[in-house]
Amino acid sequence: MAEFAEPIARLIDEFKRLPGIGHKSAQRLAFHILRSAPEDAARLAAAITEVKTRITFCSVCHNLTDIDHDPCAYCTSPARDRRLLCVVEEPHNVFAIERTGEFKGLYHVLHGALSPLRGVGPDELRIRSLLERLRTLDITEVILATNPTTEGEATANYIGRLLKPIGVRTTRLAMGLPVGGDLEYADEVTLHKALAYRREL
Ligand SMILES: [Zn+2]
Repeated sequence: MAEFAEPIARLIDEFKRLPGIGHKSAQRLAFHILRSAPEDAARLAAAITEVKTRITFCSVCHNLTDIDHDPCAYCTSPARDRRLLCVVEEPHNVFAIERTGEFKGLYHVLHGALSPLRGVGPDELRIRSLLERLRTLDITEVILATNPTTEGEATANYIGRLLKPIGVRTTRLAMGLPVGGDLEYADEVTLHKALAYRREL
């Protein structure tokens, strides 16, 4: 097999580290960059650098936000219903819920789900700050929108038990969501229904 010049081989290797990118795709992307105008390649490089220097986690809800906007737009928007709090596993789940247009409340991102096998316990998740927020905010309902996986269910049940003594209404997304999947892959109608028919936990 012919060897690529070192910079190309390095770019291919970097692309291969991305999720879902195999050797062939990595090569195709690298050669696309090689063929593209210098300013296009520079724009891509700048976008990658900027996302790493400008994007941080909101100090309140732990969703992604610009370093100049902490707390984030959801936490500070006067248009959001501050009595509803939706708990999700990852920042991209916020976008999935937002796409339904069904939810207008606040968010709380856990940054994972309980997984004893992978050594993820309650202390690895943003659960303490969730309880802290519930103490300071006037929340009437917490929607546990963790993924419909074993870990997601375990996480929802764990948080549900923690919230019981607080007395806040706690609901879980209705079924209809593909079991074992990620909210990201649920179509909007399914997720819309799962939110609308959420059940008491
Ligand atoms: Zn926030």
